[in-house]
Amino acid sequence: MNTRNTLYVKDGKLYIGGFAASELARRFGTPLYVMDAAYIAEVCDAFQSAMATYGDGAVAFANKAFATVATAKIAAKHGLWFDVVSGGELYLVKSAGADLGKVLFHGNNKTVAEIEEGIVDGVGFFVVDSLHELKLLDEKAGAAGVVQDILVRVNPGITAHTHEAVATATPLSKFGFGVDTNAFEVIKDASQRRNLHFRGIHSHIGSQIYDHSSYDAAIGVLTDFMKRLYDEAGIVTEILDMGGGYGIYYTDADPKFTPKRYAYTVENIGKRVKEECAAKGVAKPFLIVEPGRSIVGEAGITLYTVGAIKDFPSVRKYVAVDGGMFDNPRYALYESQYSAVLADKADKPADETVTIVGKCCESGDIVAKDVKLQHAEAGDILAVFSTGAYNYSMASNYNLNAVPPVVLVDGDKADYIVKPQTYADLLRNNEVPEWLK
Ligand SMILES: *Cc1c(COP(=O)(O)O)cnc(C)c1O
Repeated sequence: MNTRNTLYVKDGKLYIGGFAASELARRFGTPLYVMDAAYIAEVCDAFQSAMATYGDGAVAFANKAFATVATAKIAAKHGLWFDVVSGGELYLVKSAGADLGKVLFHGNNKTVAEIEEGIVDGVGFFVVDSLHELKLLDEKAGAAGVVQDILVRVNPGITAHTHEAVATATPLSKFGFGVDTNAFEVIKDASQRRNLHFRGIHSHIGSQIYDHSSYDAAIGVLTDFMKRLYDEAGIVTEILDMGGGYGIYYTDADPKFTPKRYAYTVENIGKRVKEECAAKGVAKPFLIVEPGRSIVGEAGITLYTVGAIKDFPSVRKYVAVDGGMFDNPRYALYESQYSAVLADKADKPADETVTIVGKCCESGDIVAKDVKLQHAEAGDILAVFSTGAYNYSMASNYNLNAVPPVVLVDGDKADYIVKPQTYADLLRNNEVPEWLK
């Protein structure tokens, strides 16, 4: 457990943002996502102050990590820009009242409709990821009578030290244009398009990265590339977007980062960019970073009620909860590991090794495998840590389970930011064609 002033154990009970977790479970039911507003704000501020040490730059919240209107409002209030990866996310940040000039539209295969919507809405930057998109965007911007600012996603060919499914800059990645292959020609093309304005480059090397050296290596490659663009084609890279990917704590195998430590990572990126640009005679760019997981991941916990317990003595003990892969598919996707406590037995010894499973009809429906836990009984409230990122945003209605509601705790206040789904919600878009009636 990575405790902090808004996540701690007192008198044997787990607290988040001033509330006993079991009290939140009683009041709002389980399964339940709980998000800690104070922590989100603290991380946003830490990133902002880190960027201030660089100078001209922006911190953009990668909305896909946790996409709700309320958290977008918190991020906007703290001065963050936004990354969106779909028309839906664009609609969300619009609904949150964000300044759309400070939105970066990502995605390796934006649809025609999404490109049109983004242009009409006045999205600040499209991050172009294919020749198909470059052509389409030029055409649609022309039709709308605007000159659209763009970044071009480049792939520095860095193998970040992380899980294969979340490493995005390996040579054969589906994302971006290789700096060693066609990125140079694509940017030359982009900079001559009449309805587009090439502003800079973007790179996102992966996710759940703890190791500075991956970013340092990327900065080396990217600043070399910026120099080449200028020397060989006279193209200035005004903006360098370094993406996100900062790792968070899930289990004791991971470092226990704090907001200050994240800030340090960004300070280091800024320092490196400055040094490399100075050494290579490249103009210092406007710097963007795009953290997602690190802003919301540890802000969130998920509360479940323990139900069935199955013990295969000295082999495995299953503790089943009232959620599972429909609220957290990350084990099924990546074999991600989590840590957990029983909310009202948090001071008891975690002396059993159990596998926490969900209620879905899949053997891969695992929340946490072989984890240490206090002795569980049916009815206990179980809290899983670090579920704020890529849990709610990846949730589904599999087995027609309702996606759990989300409660925001903020000082002495707690309320829904996503309401519970009803059975009627689950069938809301069902239709029965005339001939079946
Ligand atoms: C997912 C993503 C991010 C955020 O990654 P985290 O690991 O959540 O920090 C940033 N930029 C882009 C382009 C992404 O796809």
